[in-house]
Amino acid sequence: MVTAVWRNTTGWEAPEIKPYGPLTLMPTASVLHYATECFEGLKLYRGYDGSLRVFRIRKNCERMRRSALRIALPDFEPAELEKLIIKLCEVDGARWLPKDRPGSFLYIRPTMIGTDATLGVQMPREAMLFIIISCFPIPAAANQGLKLLASKEDSVRAWPGGFGFAKVGANYGPSLIASGEAQKRGYNQILWLFGPEGWVTEAGAMNIFFMWNTKEGRKQLVTAPLEGNMILEGVTRASVLDLARTNLKDEVEVVERKFTIGEIAEAVEEGRMIEAFAAGTAYFITPVGTIGWKDKDMSIPLSEGTIGAYTQKFKTWLEDIMYGRQSHEWGIVVNEQ
Ligand SMILES: *Cc1c(COP(=O)(O)O)cnc(C)c1O
Repeated sequence: MVTAVWRNTTGWEAPEIKPYGPLTLMPTASVLHYATECFEGLKLYRGYDGSLRVFRIRKNCERMRRSALRIALPDFEPAELEKLIIKLCEVDGARWLPKDRPGSFLYIRPTMIGTDATLGVQMPREAMLFIIISCFPIPAAANQGLKLLASKEDSVRAWPGGFGFAKVGANYGPSLIASGEAQKRGYNQILWLFGPEGWVTEAGAMNIFFMWNTKEGRKQLVTAPLEGNMILEGVTRASVLDLARTNLKDEVEVVERKFTIGEIAEAVEEGRMIEAFAAGTAYFITPVGTIGWKDKDMSIPLSEGTIGAYTQKFKTWLEDIMYGRQSHEWGIVVNEQ
């Protein structure tokens, strides 16, 4: 793993690379009391051409900086974090992703915590960055149509002026009750709604996309907008939008706008819903098959059986870049040692 320590008096110390193992923290450490923690999630891919790659890593490093600043953790240069992640991948990648296993990946988790050992509620004066790499199985549910349960009004993931746009631990702990209850009822994840209008925001810890025909008969790909700072700006989300705007330019209108669960129900009822999918690095592009709302299950079409045809296209386009079937500026080769 990589670790780097920061103090407000002396700034960042030289980072270290060392075997994975426990951290030493005081029980008064800021992170343990005031949730001064943020993280990132990206993957290292073993390509079909034999190379190791990361995907649009600069975006993760820039987002980590925005997350850190939101919770008073220290500033840093995204390019420096990128160097540390790449270095760890160079050192450890080949061992865990052998060349004879193309199509496999590891999950990379850069994390920053406030380590300040004074109990006062204040900006941390000490912090630690660490980067670990892990295996990460994708659950079978991710490949046969997710069952989402719409959140109720008493449970909100993010709100205006909050921190839903930041990958901070404080966003996830409080969501576990709702997702645990959804799982008990046979659903996979929560579809997070906001406000009495039922604005659709995200699904679990993923962005969500719907492909439908508008009432005017136009084919449209829609996802919630970043304005308002309630949506996590996913790298996968940005990539899907870019690909749709180039590869499906003449076929599909791509819009980032607010939309409600009522609009979804109406599109399903009127036979205008084409397909839906959730998008994030961890579970990648995941088809959505069911949405539970107001004690009823809505069926979302899966035109190819377990996945929609467009969802499959996005998956293939992205995988081709991640696993080196297509050479592309988003797929960055890591030189292994
Ligand atoms: C990480 C995350 C995403 C997906 O972001 P990617 O960069 O695509 O992995 C979406 N929503 C939430 C809440 C997240 O935490």
